[in-house]
Amino acid sequence: MPTAVNVRARNANRFFEGFSTAISQSVPANANAGADREEIVISPPVLSAGNGRARLAAEIRVGADVKTLWFEVEEDYKDYLAADTLDAFVVASLVPAILQGRNMRLEWPMSARLFYNLSRSLIPILAGYFERPPLTRVIPHGFTPAASGGAGVAAGFSGGIDSFCNYYDHAQGRVPDAFSLTHFIFNNVGAHGQMTPNADRALFLRRYTRLRECAKKLGKPVIAVDSSLDEFLGKKFELTHTLRNVAVALLMQKRIGKFLYASGYPLSETKLGPDSNMSHLEPVILPLLGTERIECMGSGGQHSRVEKTRRVAEVEESRHYLDVCVSPHNAPDGIANCGVCWKCIRTATTLKILGRLEEYGKVFDLRSFATFDNLYLVEAIGGKSIYAKEIRRLIAEEGYRVPLAVRCIAALLPAAAAQQFSMRIIPALLRHRALARFINGCLAW
Ligand SMILES: [Zn+2]
Repeated sequence: MPTAVNVRARNANRFFEGFSTAISQSVPANANAGADREEIVISPPVLSAGNGRARLAAEIRVGADVKTLWFEVEEDYKDYLAADTLDAFVVASLVPAILQGRNMRLEWPMSARLFYNLSRSLIPILAGYFERPPLTRVIPHGFTPAASGGAGVAAGFSGGIDSFCNYYDHAQGRVPDAFSLTHFIFNNVGAHGQMTPNADRALFLRRYTRLRECAKKLGKPVIAVDSSLDEFLGKKFELTHTLRNVAVALLMQKRIGKFLYASGYPLSETKLGPDSNMSHLEPVILPLLGTERIECMGSGGQHSRVEKTRRVAEVEESRHYLDVCVSPHNAPDGIANCGVCWKCIRTATTLKILGRLEEYGKVFDLRSFATFDNLYLVEAIGGKSIYAKEIRRLIAEEGYRVPLAVRCIAALLPAAAAQQFSMRIIPALLRHRALARFINGCLAW
């Protein structure tokens, strides 16, 4: 076990000021190709516990600049935390290492399998994704001794369509027992607004309170993982979300043997190379991020979004806890989903075509939705996105009646213009509800 003092872990928040700036000033390609570039040095992790919390933290140094990256769970889950390996910290540090062209020197063992896959495949793939030369080398300090992993099967859970579909697909009886979901994980790693650490943490805790209730009804424990990872990385969440969430899974590899990461895109959208959303890489990189103790797997990529929504509608609890909204501040008190942001209106329209929307009156602002529903149908009928195409296919399958006015407008508009309704036209009309109601009413003919 690590013996470094726990003092390092205390007051960790204060260590982060300025680090994201260091990352955002990442050097241009080849500028660090010289032999004198400083390494990222990762110290042994320190496991500490107290006041009902357990924390695993490691110092990460670049020259004189020292940061502490920490993860924290309820003390009940202390035995899940793998302090015998630096795997979680290595995966978290890949982003600054590749962006800055630095090597990573470890002062504690890591998984041999992860080391092998990082060195051979993952670093070159991520360097291509970040548009940097693949200069980073990991300099290990021995490898984690062979140990059996746990039997836990964990999945992130946010209450969205992907999460509920993942739950549906991995409920007992639908998969071999070894793949049946045993735990939900709910992380504070950047998905809660990326405003300030305190504001993000407050939203994380608010969402956790609601999700814990849902998880209880679904009969699964939910492990809430707080961390300083977002402050540590300081980049847009979508750019690095897979690595952030996998780092948490690796943290718990003593008890969790499989990590199912719900995919945001269908498998057909898989591609390597520069992008703004890491989801496109997942079917390739997730298996490379596993260790001898934990497998990382994508989940749900075989379904279209419409198919996922159809599955979610079979989960009773989704009628009370579905949370897809990107503008929850626009929703009335006590309702989680505004009904009109691009995610809400897409989901609500799909549920309406499936004949299930009325069952979701407790979680969607259906009055707001009804003010804009025909406007969104113009995008669904005339748009060019994969989601518009999926909804068109569903409309045909279900024989759903689309007003003639919607069909005419969609036929007249170029596909690129029709595609703008959920992202631009409907948000612009939010402050002019009477006008929106009038236009939406005209489109009903
Ligand atoms: Zn919304």
